[in-house]
Amino acid sequence: MWQQIARCILVLVGLLTIVKFATAERVRYDNYRVYQLEAKTPAQLAVINTLDGSSDALIFLNGVHSLNTKIHVLVAPHRVDDFLALQDRTGIAHKLLEADAQKSLDVETELVADPNRRSGDYTWREYHELDDTYAWLRSLAEKYPEQVSLFVAGKSYEGREILGVKIAYNTITDDEVVGATAKRGIFIEGGMHAREWISPATTTYIINELLTNTNKDVRKVAERYVWYVVPHSNPDGFVYTHTTNRLWRKTRTPYGNCFGADPNRNWDFHWNEVGSSSNPCSDTYAGPAAFSEIETRTLAEYISTLKGKLFLYLSFHSYSQLLLFPYGHTSELPSNYKNLKRVFDVAVAAVSKRYGTRYIGGNVYDAIYPAAGASLDWAYGKMEVPYSYCFELRPSGSALWSGFRLPANQIIPTGEEIMDSMLAMIKEIDALFA
Ligand SMILES: [Zn+2]
Repeated sequence: MWQQIARCILVLVGLLTIVKFATAERVRYDNYRVYQLEAKTPAQLAVINTLDGSSDALIFLNGVHSLNTKIHVLVAPHRVDDFLALQDRTGIAHKLLEADAQKSLDVETELVADPNRRSGDYTWREYHELDDTYAWLRSLAEKYPEQVSLFVAGKSYEGREILGVKIAYNTITDDEVVGATAKRGIFIEGGMHAREWISPATTTYIINELLTNTNKDVRKVAERYVWYVVPHSNPDGFVYTHTTNRLWRKTRTPYGNCFGADPNRNWDFHWNEVGSSSNPCSDTYAGPAAFSEIETRTLAEYISTLKGKLFLYLSFHSYSQLLLFPYGHTSELPSNYKNLKRVFDVAVAAVSKRYGTRYIGGNVYDAIYPAAGASLDWAYGKMEVPYSYCFELRPSGSALWSGFRLPANQIIPTGEEIMDSMLAMIKEIDALFA
């Protein structure tokens, strides 16, 4: 009798699980604890880096780790005891920030645009869904037919387009631009990591500035160079953060029981040598091979058509307020390190001018930690783009634990300071060869 009841319960639980998957309800983080870790020694940092990527029960939030910085991690309830035992054994400083992550996630700080509202009022006071942004990009090609053209930079696993805009004013001839910037092309890539919503928001802000800002410094760079901007390099992941799991980072390619590879560990340049995981359930899973992800493969194919034409590549991520340049796979410095560092110095000075926002960084390997297979290294190493950088946008690493959820009222200040920084970078690159 009792056995029969137990069997019935098991069947019921099984059915409920199936129903849960079928309805694709929102993923919740009830009773997940949020811890702040701080590594004081390289050995402690190594332990933390091993944990990152070991399991989907540990979700590392700021994707970059270094000594003496605050590292935020979500720990599933069933892993808390093991997790704490390990921290105690290794002496890693840890602090409980929150006993129930879901409570924080329930607090509304991110305004998301109502997809049913009237068209024509795309703003940066709110975050947008993919279709909304794509509709806006398409509207630009109609509004500025001379300057703006659309391009499809690739496809996603679920069949979405990776849509980009090219902005070219053609007001000056190639002969009028000399030195490093003679290549004229600037490639801006956003949205690689799905949950980092401020990234696509910043790239669309830049597009709007290039087209509408009347300031003479902005006009000069807008009209002098040829811009390629891709706000959503990982459209499936981004849609999934809206429909199902706000903390999703990867693509959505199925790999056994888990989904997705980390698209910024998937590029074909020293792929999977260091700083990525071979576990498909990990948030830093490099994928089964370089360019296994259709998103990175097709985007790279598009960028390859511009080989020789680009002098600047910018990749936008969040969070931590860092500016990074090659390499991620080795501590060996790139051949034009001196110039990369000079442009870096100018860029971090400019980013703080308006609001005092402090950025730090350097070459990926030393500034944060070894990480191979990122787009900035591929652009530099394989596409020979001499200036390749990655911005980890607001907030700073020590701010909120849920840094991806940057309040919507910070989109415009972020865009403003990044425009300041980018303009200063371009001016410096120009000056280096004048
Ligand atoms: Zn990222």
